[in-house]
Amino acid sequence: MRGQSGVSPPTTDEARPRTCPRCGQPAFEGGEVWIHGHGVVQRQQRGPEAPGKVTVKREVSCRRYRCKACTAVLTVVPASALARKHFSGAAMALALTLWGLCGWSAAQVRAVVGGQLPPEGKPRGWRTLARWARQVADGKLWASLDSRAQGAPRQVAARVAQALCGRAPPWARAAGLPHQAFAGACHVN
Ligand SMILES: [Zn+2]
Repeated sequence: MRGQSGVSPPTTDEARPRTCPRCGQPAFEGGEVWIHGHGVVQRQQRGPEAPGKVTVKREVSCRRYRCKACTAVLTVVPASALARKHFSGAAMALALTLWGLCGWSAAQVRAVVGGQLPPEGKPRGWRTLARWARQVADGKLWASLDSRAQGAPRQVAARVAQALCGRAPPWARAAGLPHQAFAGACHVN
């Protein structure tokens, strides 16, 4: 994960979708470009820059494209910024690993990754964790890991955390599980 805020987006050519997800039009057909660059938008995301660091807000630049066939405007979100999530993929991976594999309570994970302390005297959980686990189980989050599974949310969290650790690059393998999952999430869509 790049350490600074304001990460620059990939080039128009690098991030261009191969086909339009709405109408199926290929990006290149008949010697013409059908899916055109349509500027850059900023998305706000929360999450720590690394395991053990405090949660920060940062802007992520996303490329937009416009399909000439159906006029759909498509926003391409980088792998670190899964669509429609307020947290970075790496932050979600870290949270699910601490909860599923490291024995942290949901309230502890919320305090560290979520950046939110529960109100005084009211130790509460963090339902967001179970929601993410449900999305994994339904194949809506990290579908490429094929972690669709039945079971309690915490078990699903443990399973996907292991799968994310398995995607960690070699330099992260010697680090603890939270570091592995965090790094692995940067390599998974
Ligand atoms: Zn289209």
